[in-house]
This record gives sequence, C-alpha cells and structure tokens, in this order.
Amino acid sequence: MTTPRRLLVRCLFEASGHRTAEELAAEIQARAPDISISTVYRNLEELERLGVVVHSHLGHGPATYHLATAAHGHLVCRKCEIQVEIADGFFADLRRRAIADFGFAIDPRHFAVIGLCATCQAAADDLGDFTAG
Ligand SMILES: [Zn+2]
Ligand SMILES: [Zn+2]
Ligand SMILES: [Zn+2]
Repeated sequence: MTTPRRLLVRCLFEASGHRTAEELAAEIQARAPDISISTVYRNLEELERLGVVVHSHLGHGPATYHLATAAHGHLVCRKCEIQVEIADGFFADLRRRAIADFGFAIDPRHFAVIGLCATCQAAADDLGDFTAG
C-alpha cells in the first residue's frame, strides 16, 4: 500500500466521527506536507473503488467517509443536526418490504434518514407533518 493510502486508512481508523475529503486532506497534509490534495482525493477514490472505504451523505454538506468495516446507517436531526449511528439490522424489515413490494434493494448506508431528534421534537411547534401520517 502506498504511503498516501496508508495515511488515509490510518486517519479514518483513528477518527471517532466522520471525515469529509477536505478534512482528510488537511489531516494528511499535517502529517505529510509533501502529499498534494489531488493525491489524497485520487487515493480516496481508489480506496472506495477497492471497497476499503465508503461514503455517506449526512445532510446538505459534503459526503463523509468511513472505513467499510465500520460502515453503518445514520439518523440525522434536521434542526440540530445531531447524528445517531445505527446498525444495518435496523433496516432489515424495510429492506425485506422494499424487495417484496417493489423488487428494490435499498442501500440505507448511503444517505442518512432525516428527521427530528427527541429534544427538538419536545421543542418543536411544527410536528404536524409527523403526527398526521
Ligand atoms: Zn454518494
Ligand atoms: Zn435535534
Ligand atoms: Zn457514521
């Protein structure tokens, strides 16, 4: 494995949260200033192609990256943007129903499920769309 790749994997392994490509590039340049941003991006793409790394969209911002071995789904509050990590098994029933009803295999890791966390629900006066259905 080349040095940029090894550094990328190490950064992702050490990250308790999530890293955007930009954050990863900054971390790698702090450790190895001679590695260019485009090299970091190219290696990130390559790691993703190899299935070592996956990305998720947690909101309107840039995608964030995880090691594939640590991949999981996310619930994100649209108000306070708190992120809750959820195991794949959480979507098992939905996965079965989507295949049974539509022949569609969902990929719940790729995008977060957006909603309102408990705290924001308690403070919200716009629960209409959640309670009506
Ligand atoms: Zn994507
Ligand atoms: Zn919230
Ligand atoms: Zn995550």
